[in-house]
Amino acid sequence: MLGCASLRLLAAWDNGGVSASDPDLHHVLLVGGTEAEWACTGDGEWEARLAALGAAAERAGARWLTLRPFGSRQPAGAAQSAPRRHAVGRCTVTADPTADGRVRFVNAVEALRTAGRPIDEQSIDAVLNDPAEVDPDLAVVLGTPDRLPPSLVWELAYSELVFLPITWREVTADHLGDAIASYAHRHRRSAGSTDGGGMASHLYRDTAVVLRTYKLGEADRIVVLLTEEHGKVRAVAKGVRKTTSKFGARLEPMSHVRLLLAQGRELDIVSQAEAVDTLAPLVVDLDHMTAGMAVLEAVDQMALDREPVPQLYRMLVGVLRTIAERSGPLVVPAFYWKLLALDGVRPEIDACVRCGEAGPLVAFDVDQGGTMCRACRSGIGVSEEALEVMRLILDGGLNEALALPASQVTHEVAALATRALEHHLERRLRTVAMFERTL
Ligand SMILES: [Zn+2]
Repeated sequence: MLGCASLRLLAAWDNGGVSASDPDLHHVLLVGGTEAEWACTGDGEWEARLAALGAAAERAGARWLTLRPFGSRQPAGAAQSAPRRHAVGRCTVTADPTADGRVRFVNAVEALRTAGRPIDEQSIDAVLNDPAEVDPDLAVVLGTPDRLPPSLVWELAYSELVFLPITWREVTADHLGDAIASYAHRHRRSAGSTDGGGMASHLYRDTAVVLRTYKLGEADRIVVLLTEEHGKVRAVAKGVRKTTSKFGARLEPMSHVRLLLAQGRELDIVSQAEAVDTLAPLVVDLDHMTAGMAVLEAVDQMALDREPVPQLYRMLVGVLRTIAERSGPLVVPAFYWKLLALDGVRPEIDACVRCGEAGPLVAFDVDQGGTMCRACRSGIGVSEEALEVMRLILDGGLNEALALPASQVTHEVAALATRALEHHLERRLRTVAMFERTL
């Protein structure tokens, strides 16, 4: 206990011992605890916590304090309870138990649709932040910086993060006060610096695969990234083309990197980059390189700016590792099929897509999105063997499919995958021609 108390005192001294009130701080987010910990917190305890934490936020000048669990991507076992509200002076405290940020996002869109209101970034923002009128300026996350909370969707892109390595049970108003003070301290420092343009940068961390790069001026480069938690992000890497660049070769296409990014108006800025793991074998082998480029281009076309799809990121890292380790004729085609399924256009391959007949299935029509029986036949002919391979790919037999040697059947599956993906993207992929030649 004594240890904790002296630590607290030191922290306060660190910040000059002054009140941390900050005119630019409006909305504070506190994220921590598991769903179970939230559920077993009693009503009386909630009252006390919201009052104490709200008082700390109010002292710092915040008008809104929002609490969320750290969250998970697992479906919640029990029904979500409603948010709790508590007013402390001018500060409104809200505890929202929704653990999956995507659920909150979907609910927000659904609420707008039901109300007949326009669905755009501004209106979604308003619903997600409600009752707060602005995005969070500061997100205090209980945990270590290597994991970002799944309960947040796009809050992280706009708010500054402060991590506190303590648990939900331990957190007190003093901890929150310290986190706010450290934010205010940083904020004042960066506001006074000359290179910040007078604005504090909103920093965020993420892990990403570099999809492509463009030259920018003499020494800089724009990198297009597929990040795990922020979707597709375009960022400037300054000085990257100088031989003395601190980023070295870490920001080339296919690099898998951990990044610290500063949010900018149009483009973000890469502030730090470290390699997660190397996919080096790709670079020494033209076939592997071509397959890697085909995968990157497909993902670049499919991913939307700042729309997080963590599963797409995981699939991309997985397929690049597979290409590096043991490429085969079906690695890229299998990735295309899985990409289509992820994007909600999984092909029908077990029945005739027009009449529902179970078989025999003799053709595949990309316009119809699946297989055709003899009577309905349209599109291009497909063999029963090729359909068997597609079922392996889409229904849990991926490794078995990837082990198949090149044959007429793998060629058929590959050609169909390309055609289906192109149809979906409504655009011929530039690297596909290159890839087809290597089959
Ligand atoms: Zn039919």
